[in-house]
Amino acid sequence: MTVTARWFSSGKAGLLPTLPVRVTGPEQNSLKVRGFNKMYHDKVLVCQDCGEEFIFTAGEQEFYAEKGFENEPKRCKVCRQKRSGNARAPREMHIAVCAACGGEAQVPFRPVANRPVYCQECFAKQKAL
Ligand SMILES: [Zn+2]
Ligand SMILES: [Zn+2]
Repeated sequence: MTVTARWFSSGKAGLLPTLPVRVTGPEQNSLKVRGFNKMYHDKVLVCQDCGEEFIFTAGEQEFYAEKGFENEPKRCKVCRQKRSGNARAPREMHIAVCAACGGEAQVPFRPVANRPVYCQECFAKQKAL
């Protein structure tokens, strides 16, 4: 048959099916992680901390995939914020009187009587000197 003969002789893309390219082996995983050939849909997850349902949006899923995160978020936004807030607890600030301008100075250490304390502005000036 002429047609068959032509098919074989062309040997190139002409005959190849236009189906999505199938990838096997380790390549498959890396492609998945990078989000190729994958459609994201908003997903409802349950927060591990408060038990509330929250949306793992398509955009977030894509972001996670891009970053290579394999795990879905376990907590809702509120709880995540709470946790990150705990992790970075603001330093306790002490109020003192600025030795230079007499204004209120907030310092991250307990002011010592015989050591002058400066407000942020004056501190910067002192440094600049
Ligand atoms: Zn929560
Ligand atoms: Zn000052």
